This record gives sequence, structure tokens and C-alpha cells, in this order.
Amino acid sequence: MKNTIALLSAGILISLLASNVTAMGVQRDNLPFTPSDTPGDVSAIREQHLYDFQHRVPISPLSIYHSYAEMTSLLFSLAENHSDIMRVTSLGKTYQGRDLWLVKLSDNVNQEEYEPEVLFTGSHHGNERPGYETLIYFIQYMADYYHNDTAVRDAINSTEIYVIPMVNPDGVEAGTRKNLEPNHGSFGFSKTVTSIGVDLNRNYAGPWFLLLLRPLFYDSSTSYYDRSDVYRGPHPFSENETQAVRQFVETHNITISIDYHTFDQLILYPWGDTRLPTPDKSLFVSIGENISKLDNYTLEQSTALYPTLGDVCDWMYAKHHILAFTIELGTSYAPENPVLLHKMSVDHTRVNLYICQRAQSIAAQR
Ligand SMILES: [Zn+2]
Repeated sequence: MKNTIALLSAGILISLLASNVTAMGVQRDNLPFTPSDTPGDVSAIREQHLYDFQHRVPISPLSIYHSYAEMTSLLFSLAENHSDIMRVTSLGKTYQGRDLWLVKLSDNVNQEEYEPEVLFTGSHHGNERPGYETLIYFIQYMADYYHNDTAVRDAINSTEIYVIPMVNPDGVEAGTRKNLEPNHGSFGFSKTVTSIGVDLNRNYAGPWFLLLLRPLFYDSSTSYYDRSDVYRGPHPFSENETQAVRQFVETHNITISIDYHTFDQLILYPWGDTRLPTPDKSLFVSIGENISKLDNYTLEQSTALYPTLGDVCDWMYAKHHILAFTIELGTSYAPENPVLLHKMSVDHTRVNLYICQRAQSIAAQR
């Protein structure tokens, strides 16, 4: 099944890219334009999300998604067959001992070059499986079509592309939103284990004190209660996974990043913790509108979905000035329909290629 999808996908993507080479070129205005859907009823979406936080998605044994072990062997075999442009390294280990894989795609892959850097991350939330699956597709496409596809070759030759496809492999394997780290009370002071797991996309540093000052504003999207499915952890960067992402980001110079989640067909930009705009709002909107032309998703500031504290995008932008987006893929947490998953993967491979191209023009101006 996976091979069939891969072959089918590759063919369709080649024809899409061939018919739209300018999409990845300098003339951004030539992106194929499809009007976005009008924004849905945001309050209904928000309620659905808060409800879904409490419900876990079981893993089907016949799933169309790669397991962690399958992903690991695929990444290493790709890296072995494309050692000139692809490298896999570990950023550290999870509580259960799984490596957090970092993929680098670039020419002269073993050197640090002065090229714009981009970062794609997936599945901070383990039950949101398309996050990593679309990135596996992207990696495979980039490795396989480097010699046959101009857009791929340009991206690999002119950017340093980093991918952390599965930020929360323990959660992916367990089918849980949170990781599997045992909690010792909400603030870590209990001698006994009181619950399991931290919401990794609430564990990044930020103005954490605001949760005490404005509890109603953050409502149930961010919690200091350890049993909550949106528990942010005892303190910022308390988790192995977020420490690994921090260590990577602090030692690189990322221009644009995308963090892939499911679901709602949204493109979100900072801030997520306040309704105020960022100083770079027009740049976020300019990039986001072009993404929207490729995936037909709705673009909005992160708070329009719901305010959160401690998410990766706010931290990346506030601390490192990275143009950090969240994309909420699809219309369910983990669709088992291969056609849907395939379309998501193709669309966002094109989005990622556009990000590589845009990072080059932005880095040239900075
Ligand atoms: Zn998520």
C-alpha cells in the first residue's frame, strides 16, 4: 500500500510541479490561485478542539501511517542511498528511549554552509499522525527527485533544510496527545507518580505567569493541572523533546519554520498568547497568503483559534525572530483515507518547497 501511494504520489507531484515551476521560482504571484474557503465558525471549532483534547485516538493495526520503527528504517535507508544530500542524526532521547531524529537535506550535507535555514517539525501531539506522515513524504520526495526536479534541486542546493518529523514518538506509539513522562504532581513536588504526560506544545518558554493572571482567557487550552491533556509541565522546557528542539534551534539560524498539527485546515501565525499583532504581521500574512494559495487553508493569527501559552511558534518568534507558522492539517486527527493523506502530503510538499524559496529571498534582505 505504501509503495503504491509513493509511486502514485510521485507521479502526481511531478506533474503538479512541472506545470508550476514558477510557483517555486522568483515570480511568487504566479502561484495557482484558488480562493480560500471563508473562515468557519471559530467558536464551534474551538469547542470541538477542547472536547477532543479529552479523547484519545486508537491506533489501527492496519494503519496507513508509518510506525516509529518503520519511519526510522525508511529514513536511514534514504540517507544511505542519498548520502550526498541527506543526513540523519539524533537530537536526544525520549522518556521511553526513542531517538528524536533530525533529517538534514542540503548539498554538501556534511558541511555547515552560509545558506538560509528552514525547519519543519511534526507531531508534537502524538495522536496527530499526518504531522509526521506528510513530512516523511516530503523527505522521500526531496531525496528521490533531487536529480530530476528543478524545484527540489534549487531548494536543496540553496537552503539548509531541517526536518524533525516526529517530535513526540512516545506519544505517536501510544496514540496520545501528550508524551509519556510520569508526572509528580502539577509542580513536580509529589513523591509519587500522579499522572502521565506533558503537552509538549505548551512546554516552551513564554510569559507563563499570564495563566495565573488571565485564567479565563486561556480557558482550558493551557493547564497547570497535571492530569489535563493540555498540561504544560512543571516548568518551561521540562521535557526531553522540547529541550532537544531548543538545543537545535539555539545552535542554528532558522529563517522560516512550520510546525505541522491536525486539524482544521488552518495556517496560524504568532502571537498565540495575545490578540495583539506582531511587528512582522505583514510579512507573516504575505507568506501565509502564498501558503494558502497552495493548500487552500484559512490564514489567521493563532489566537483566532484559541489563545495558548508556551507553544513552539511564539517561543521561536519571540526568542529567535523565526517566522514560525503552525499548520493544522486536514479535517480530523488521523484520517485513514489514503487519498486524503496523499493530497495533504503533496500539497504540503509544495508548501515546504515554497518556504525554501521564500527563505532565500528573506534571508537576502536581512
Ligand atoms: Zn496539535
